Parts: sequence; structure tokens; C-alpha cells
Amino acid sequence: MIYSFTPPAVVGVPVLDSPALFPVHRIYCVGRNYEEHAKEMGGPGREAPFFFMKPADTLVYAAPGTTAHMPYPTLTSNLHHEIELVVAIGIGGRNIAAADAHRHIFGYAVGLDMTRRDLQNDMKKAGRPWCIGKGFDHSAPIGAITPAAQVPNIGHATISLGVNGAVRQSSTIAQLIWNVAETIEQLSIAWELQPGDLIYTGTPAGVGAVVAGDVMQGDITGLSGIRVAVMAA
Ligand code: MN
Repeated sequence: MIYSFTPPAVVGVPVLDSPALFPVHRIYCVGRNYEEHAKEMGGPGREAPFFFMKPADTLVYAAPGTTAHMPYPTLTSNLHHEIELVVAIGIGGRNIAAADAHRHIFGYAVGLDMTRRDLQNDMKKAGRPWCIGKGFDHSAPIGAITPAAQVPNIGHATISLGVNGAVRQSSTIAQLIWNVAETIEQLSIAWELQPGDLIYTGTPAGVGAVVAGDVMQGDITGLSGIRVAVMAA
């Protein structure tokens, strides 16, 4: 095959204890999937899940034991952190029953759904798409993927995010309104899932702003934690 210009490389995320990269297809994100966060965003709490996407090349890989960097993005003065459990899909499918969802999961990672909250709120008010608030460059930091077999109790893991050493978000995966299996069921009705899809499953309460110079530390029990510094643009 001859291309008009050199095509971009496939985005790959390292997998713990493996030389092979997980090749990323799409990034799906779940909105308002923890009750207390849904309330802090002005919603009623439990409601049907809804989804948005980020481009695959918005990922920023945060290697274990290192500090990754993301530039403070343009157009915003209210950059928010959202710590999230990320599910990596290894086997695709459509209309996947929740009871079968585990068969489709390759592994899990810690992720950050970084958000230009001021722009997202402007778009909400205007009834316009969230892309500019959610899908900007470097908006999806992620840690190494841990194979699913190594984290059998992910449903009971704790999830937390600290900024400069102070805890901002702290909850458990059990608090998800739509758990991982139910999320896969719902998502696979709307889109045919493919190997390489990532699902950012939503964030607990406590989202807030970061500025250049801040360092975020994200952890989920049993997974490789991430450390990400926000750099002046
Ligand atoms: Mn989110």
C-alpha cells in the first residue's frame, strides 16, 4: 500500500510483564458514573449511562515509577482532573451480556480524563458537543495495563487521586453506578466493540482544578499507579 503521506503510528500502551504493546483502537468514556460525582455535576444521581469519546492519540503514557508530563492546554482557565478506572477490551463484540463481559476484558489501567471544564460547561449550556472540553490533545493520561487475570478483585478496589500530596478524590470501584460488566453491555449495544478499545469508566466525586506545576498521583488497588505533572504551555 502506498499512502499520500506517512500515516500516524498505531498508539500502543505498555502491558505489565509483557514485551507487547496494547494497540489502541478507540477511547470510550462514561459520563457521571459515580452518584456523588453526578450530584456535584448537577445531575440527579443514577441515570442511564451515556458516553463520549476521545481520540486514541490523546493518550499520555505514565510509566511505572516515573513522572509523565502533560502541557496545560490552550483555551481554558479551569483544567480539571478526573481519576478513572480504564478497561482494556481484548475481544470485541456487539450486544455483549453483562454476564459474558469478563471474557472480553484484556486488562485494566489507571487513567485520567482531563477536562477543560469551562469549555465543557459552555458547550453544555449551548447544547453543543463536548469534544473541545474532553477530546483535546494530551487529555488522556494512562498507566501500564495490568492483565485482568492479575486483578480478580477489581470490583472492590479503592480509587484515589492526590494533587501535590493532598487527597482530592477517594472512593471504591464498588461505588460505580454502572459497573464494568454493565457498562460493557450498554456500550456494546451502541457500538460494536473492537479489540484495542479502552473504556474510561467515570470518576468519583472531588473533581477540581490543577494548574501548571501541579503533580497528580492516581492509584487503584492492584494496578500500576500514575504520576503526571502539568507543565506550563
Ligand atoms: Mn470522566
